Amino acid sequence: MSPSSAPAPSRAFVSLIGAGPGDPGLLTLRGQQALQAADVVLFDYLANPELLRHCPQAETIYVGKKGFSEYISQAQINALVVAKAQEGGGKRVARLKGGDVFVFGRGSEEAEACVGAGVPFEVVPGVTSAIAAPAYAGIPVTHREVARSFAVLTGNTKEGGAHYERLSGVDTLVLLMGVRNLDQIAADLVAAGRDPQTPAATVQWGTTPQQRVVTGTLATIAGVVREAGLEAPAVTVVGEVVRLQSTLRWFEPASAVADPLTGKTVAVTRTREGASALSGVLRARGAQVLEVPLIRFASAPDLSPVAAALHDFGGWLLLSSNQAVRALFAFLEDRGLDARALAGLKLAAVGPSTARSLAERGLKADFVPSTPGARHLAAELPALSGERTLHLTSQLAEDELERGLMARGIPYARAELYRTEPAPLDPGTLARLRQADVVTLASGSAARHLATLAGTDFRVVAMGPQTADAARAAGFTHVTVAREASLEALAEAAERVVRGE
Ligand code: SAH
Repeated sequence: MSPSSAPAPSRAFVSLIGAGPGDPGLLTLRGQQALQAADVVLFDYLANPELLRHCPQAETIYVGKKGFSEYISQAQINALVVAKAQEGGGKRVARLKGGDVFVFGRGSEEAEACVGAGVPFEVVPGVTSAIAAPAYAGIPVTHREVARSFAVLTGNTKEGGAHYERLSGVDTLVLLMGVRNLDQIAADLVAAGRDPQTPAATVQWGTTPQQRVVTGTLATIAGVVREAGLEAPAVTVVGEVVRLQSTLRWFEPASAVADPLTGKTVAVTRTREGASALSGVLRARGAQVLEVPLIRFASAPDLSPVAAALHDFGGWLLLSSNQAVRALFAFLEDRGLDARALAGLKLAAVGPSTARSLAERGLKADFVPSTPGARHLAAELPALSGERTLHLTSQLAEDELERGLMARGIPYARAELYRTEPAPLDPGTLARLRQADVVTLASGSAARHLATLAGTDFRVVAMGPQTADAARAAGFTHVTVAREASLEALAEAAERVVRGE
């Protein structure tokens, strides 16, 4: 192929994405795709940080007002969204907002900022907590017999009375941002003509393992909520539909008695890309999982060696990670090219996940080894003798592939396509990390990165004795070791830590 140097058109684009109410399964497929394509992700307090596992490639910025800064204003967020989109040759920004984008999320203001700056954008609606939190509590917002209309309102306004009178014909009321003022709101609703005996329920952290539900009547709900200690984020539902809760209850948040990890936060540190299977195992045991990427990817500072290596290349292209595939396509796109530029090459993927990344871009890997890994790729690659191979990889590539191929007499060349570098932790993630009950370490490099980025004041569990040694050497003192190198054993070790063993 011969890469041209035509300037690429600006990539600047903003996806305003509804992250759903908390359960990471409630992100839409469009939302997931937009995250996968993002260069930068700006996320909120209410957007479950677990969703960031869909975008290990992206720079992530926490812009939630809670736990970060009370002072980051909406105007600053709007400006940041636009500035990030316009950075460099233009970036794809994913703006992840809790629930739905336009339900009290100020998403419309961010869209207006895009319009004002001439940045193209899309809106990916999300599952709003206004409907999902009641639904997970067994409360339908409408029902043919008891409620034919519902309204979603904010408890934040000072309007009170008159506003509630206008809602008098609406059957179900769903109140967001109203826990603090619940006394006043309930009194105003009664003053506006609602029956004090109307059933009411408050759902805190709906759709998550921490979900809590209390019920009462309009007259009692504020007291019940206070006694139970429920705080934001919570929605309150007022209306006859609340009665259905006793019949329709279906979601059981993991019970604290059965499972020691319930309600505990386990931080899973990652020094590799990809969704973490460990998170799934921990979540199944009731833990709230905070995925902490300790590395990030950047473009190689000088891509001319890649362009030179690809020029007139006709052998095997070796791709040993999803990131290599992603970076390869970014490289092509920057040069105004697409997959057709790879037409004369043979593609080898290190494993099925990398092969899938190719498939998502319309390319079928010509070869995938029977067992994923550089060693197997080197041993099994069906290269004819003298056929050239080109490994597009990061500066950290290990020699295994090279050694294996050279031993077979197959010429090997390497070009640095991307860089792997320590990811600075944004203040939001750092604040959440400090509150985690346990931090998992799957490798020595995870231990060293974590010590550098966030210090050693954590209770950590290590995947095996070597990782544990590396953790102690890095300065961690509370180190628990999994009994064997498996995800289940690691989760079990995390349970021992929270039980104080
Ligand atoms: N755009 C969001 C709402 C943002 S306003 C949406 O569509 O859901 C923030 C309020 O949403 C919180 O104060 C709380 O009332 C509600 N909320 C968000 N997530 C929630 C959850 N998981 N459980 C209960 N209430 C939630």
